[in-house]
Amino acid sequence: MSRHDDQGRRLCTATTRKGEPCRAAANNGAIVCRMHGASAPQVKAKSARNLLEELIEPALQALEDIVQDVKQPASARVAAARDILDRTGYKPVIQVQGMPSRAQVADWIEEAEAEQT
Ligand SMILES: [Zn+2]
Repeated sequence: MSRHDDQGRRLCTATTRKGEPCRAAANNGAIVCRMHGASAPQVKAKSARNLLEELIEPALQALEDIVQDVKQPASARVAAARDILDRTGYKPVIQVQGMPSRAQVADWIEEAEAEQT
């Protein structure tokens, strides 16, 4: 369970040399303060991922609210529904054209040569 200061900021989870809980605020997205390792590159990277993940749920909720709201124009509801599907792994299948065959390439070369003469 995380502790918070009177301003609602999450407190550092480390303990001081005296064995008491650190009273500094944890860095944004981190569970420790700057003095207890929040400046380390790997902690900074994890903090950034944590902050991003905290934003995903409310963002999807905002889109869901639009989809469910019958007062919204149909175009807005469809666009929100499409965004939810795109962001949850239900993208449409993308057709990728393969490489042209040797015969096709030979035909193109023949056509190009015929145009030059
Ligand atoms: Zn600390």
